[in-house]
Amino acid sequence: MLTLFGKSEPSLLERLKQSVGKTRSEIAARVEGLFGGRRLDPEQLKRLENALLAADLGVRTTRELLDAVKDAPPDASLLDPGQLRNSLKQHLLEILRPAPATPNGSAPDHHPHVIFVVGVNGTGKTTTIGKLAHRLRREGATVLLCAADTFRAAAVEQLAVWAERTGAEIVKQKAGADPAAVVYDGLAAARARGVDAVIVDTAGRLHTKSNLMAELDKMKRTAAKLVPGAPHDVLLVLDATTGQNGLAQAREFTAAAGVTGIVLTKLDGTARGGIVVPIVRELGLPVRFVGTGETAEDLVPFDAQTFVNSLFD
Ligand code: GDP
Repeated sequence: MLTLFGKSEPSLLERLKQSVGKTRSEIAARVEGLFGGRRLDPEQLKRLENALLAADLGVRTTRELLDAVKDAPPDASLLDPGQLRNSLKQHLLEILRPAPATPNGSAPDHHPHVIFVVGVNGTGKTTTIGKLAHRLRREGATVLLCAADTFRAAAVEQLAVWAERTGAEIVKQKAGADPAAVVYDGLAAARARGVDAVIVDTAGRLHTKSNLMAELDKMKRTAAKLVPGAPHDVLLVLDATTGQNGLAQAREFTAAAGVTGIVLTKLDGTARGGIVVPIVRELGLPVRFVGTGETAEDLVPFDAQTFVNSLFD
């Protein structure tokens, strides 16, 4: 059985922790001395507010966190050391909890398992597909990549490089071909060859929103005709370094593509990793994986507890 969304190993949790490093240092620098066991005065509350906003936790969450801190019991004239930190962590965990803390994608009793990957160009979509293929191959699954972003010739070439690198098969057609036709070919080939997982690359251009929507819809219908219940996962790739702007993209894609989970890339390159919180909160979707670098290994299942601890410890 595929364990694509299986539980994180300790080494992976460590990598998730490291990737939050920049965000953590940024928060720590701004709130230095605040976790020392005193009630916060207005100036300190302001510093905390700025730190949380700078980490991209979002206005709503920041406000709630400050209220929670201010509303400490009246007899607590002194906050226990660590109490402030714990209160922040607890509150964030409650927000992140509605989405599964550990990814738990559907256990596939269908074959092959079909994953659509959607997102704007440049977010790291192709790299993420390569990383997913690597992860599945490492578990012994056979993988077929379906190059249905026929709009960009470079995307097809890049996907072919990842197929070669990970030992996945690839199905492609010439540039400009109907993406649904590539999906058809890919799934037909996967069925004929008994492949375990198919990962479908899709176009990422937003300026023709209605075309994109119609195109994705057709691809999904085609997939469902060949494999019952397909696509079984629709992963939206978002770039953590684009911060709040990424949220607008996410809303568009969620409406158009029936997204089932988020992959947040480039978490290693940003001090604004708090963006995970408004994403989960506003979209009501789980963050399934985070990208922690550019190599095949740099894809880590998201774990809310580890993430929240890493932000403040
Ligand atoms: P696409 O246009 O969405 O397919 O994006 P690509 O997969 O080509 O990635 C764009 C750039 O982002 C490339 O230079 C990737 O190596 C880089 N990239 C992708 N994911 C990550 C990540 O998690 N961390 C870092 N640091 N770079 C990444």
